[in-house]
Amino acid sequence: MLNIVLFGPPGAGKGTQSAKLIEKYGLVHLSTGDIFRANIKGNTELGAKAKSYMDQGKLVPDEVTISMLEAEVAETPEAKGYIFDGFPRNKFQAESLDEFLEILGCSITLMLALEVEEDELRTRLLLRGKDSARADDVDPAIIQKRIDVYNNETAPVKDYYSAQGKYRGINGVGSIDGVFGQLCEEIKGISSKE
Ligand code: AMP
Repeated sequence: MLNIVLFGPPGAGKGTQSAKLIEKYGLVHLSTGDIFRANIKGNTELGAKAKSYMDQGKLVPDEVTISMLEAEVAETPEAKGYIFDGFPRNKFQAESLDEFLEILGCSITLMLALEVEEDELRTRLLLRGKDSARADDVDPAIIQKRIDVYNNETAPVKDYYSAQGKYRGINGVGSIDGVFGQLCEEIKGISSKE
């Protein structure tokens, strides 16, 4: 199984690159942000729980997020592998994911971390906010909050995977195909060792 954590700050290009990776490698895409947004749109109980946190740019509580993620994985037992996009976002989520995958008899193969500096992120998110329906991409204060949450709570997850020898930093600035090429090189590197 090929299980990738596609990591990076908001606006780093995780959604764009996930779409290309799932097409090339036939993986199941699990974006916690997308799942929350679909639930908000569908007026579900889960959506109601997540909305106020998302509107403020804060993380949705771990127990809500982790149980949702595990339920999504359980729904696709035939998957060849997963792209985890936007998850894990703190060390506790990373540990929970490892424990859950161990029960399923698999593990994370690689963490591919898209690296983009903050000024570029702010520009990209404000631009995305102009033509997307994402409320959290419109207000500069909410964008900054999300970047701060990333720096304070999420970025340390790199150390967690680094300690397992699974962290790979990728320059997330450049053409979409150029960044994709770097991601594929890293995946090729791991496949050739297996
Ligand atoms: P994203 O689409 O990944 O930028 O996520 C949008 C928002 O959804 C985040 O700002 C959080 O409020 C929430 N969210 C997404 N993934 C997670 C997660 N793994 N843990 C907690 N909250 C999350």
